[in-house]
Amino acid sequence: MMHTLTGTLLEPRSAVECAVVPRGIVRIDKEGRIAEVESGRTRARDVVGDDHCWIIPGFIDAHLHLPQWDRRGIDGLTLFDWHERVVYPAEARLRDADFAARLAEEFVSGVIARGTTTVAAFGSPYAAATQRVFEVFAQRGLRAIYGKSLADAKVPAELRDASADKALDESRGLAAEWHGAEGGRLHYAFSPRTPACCSERLLRGAAALAGMLKCYVQTHVAESPAAVAAVRETYPDQMDDVDVIADMGLLTPRTLLGHGVFLNQQQRRQVADAQTVVVHCPTANLFLESGLMDYVGHRAAGVRLALGSSVGGGHEAFMPRVAVECLQTAKALKVHALPRGSQKVPTPAEAWWLLTRGAAEALGLGERIGSIAVGLDADLLVVRPEPWLADLPAEQQVSALLYSLAPHQIEHVFIAGRRVGP
Ligand SMILES: [Zn+2]
Repeated sequence: MMHTLTGTLLEPRSAVECAVVPRGIVRIDKEGRIAEVESGRTRARDVVGDDHCWIIPGFIDAHLHLPQWDRRGIDGLTLFDWHERVVYPAEARLRDADFAARLAEEFVSGVIARGTTTVAAFGSPYAAATQRVFEVFAQRGLRAIYGKSLADAKVPAELRDASADKALDESRGLAAEWHGAEGGRLHYAFSPRTPACCSERLLRGAAALAGMLKCYVQTHVAESPAAVAAVRETYPDQMDDVDVIADMGLLTPRTLLGHGVFLNQQQRRQVADAQTVVVHCPTANLFLESGLMDYVGHRAAGVRLALGSSVGGGHEAFMPRVAVECLQTAKALKVHALPRGSQKVPTPAEAWWLLTRGAAEALGLGERIGSIAVGLDADLLVVRPEPWLADLPAEQQVSALLYSLAPHQIEHVFIAGRRVGP
């Protein structure tokens, strides 16, 4: 299965540089890797795209919840009410593993239709459902970091792990089967729901197994003032939630911390020193009225960052809109900062970086995905923006494409060279 794609290339090269290459040609080899990138005219037959199309690296959504896929946009709740009223009942449905497989099919179709080619997603607490979801990911071709969620305290009985040891055994079994499967397209993440709803035994066990098996860890940190207080209550001997995560052995370069809205400067430095990733979820943080994360402050402290839709606590699954919300949140902080206007705002080029190559590097996948470069897996989108975009100079195109791109303009989605949708 070889493909030749043509169109304007959008190439995020760093947080400050996003190149635009007109009349690009990308050849994908039969291993699904990018074999050639050039500009000019192609004489190849069966070319995908044309002069009006753009070729973009696939989007990376580094924090979302598969069981909440069909619970987006339920407004009026703050974090803990949202958990009680929406999240817990939604997750309990996945005790039925056949239901989990059906929901996974909808999830994969939904994210691919929006140009997301890699997800780091939380699953349900049920091992059988997690197995079925991985089977769907394998068959449909999605690139995914995924895992059974872990909680042995402070969640309703039907979502609670019966014991830390059983939860760890199930996770280890799933990791053994799926971590590195499908030619390295699938990865396992040990997924403590939050430090507050896991025992010390469960957290330490997850850290040990993740380290031994070289898997990811994903959890939530400092999402809202109430969430911060809940961790303090469970672990009164620790300074704060970052301290709990560090003490349990979970603050590693392969750990993805969702949200991190309320990290102070000292915590930022601690997270940055450990090379741990914070996944910024600006749509969810505003939707649930959790808070406005100071992305620029985190970045200035050296924290590795990616972006997450945080579906369903985030209402928006289309990642460019999540990236726009990152810029808008920075602008909101800027206009309210004292002295006024002293805060910086990230550029659209940085937003593209966060959606693609920057996120790939944060996830340790920069050698595999995130760029239009020879040797990388071909995780690529062919999109057809509104025609007026062609009239703009390149720098304005980088901005206007970010703000105006819509899911229906995505014509082809490739993951590891395989056309997977929409
Ligand atoms: Zn989350």
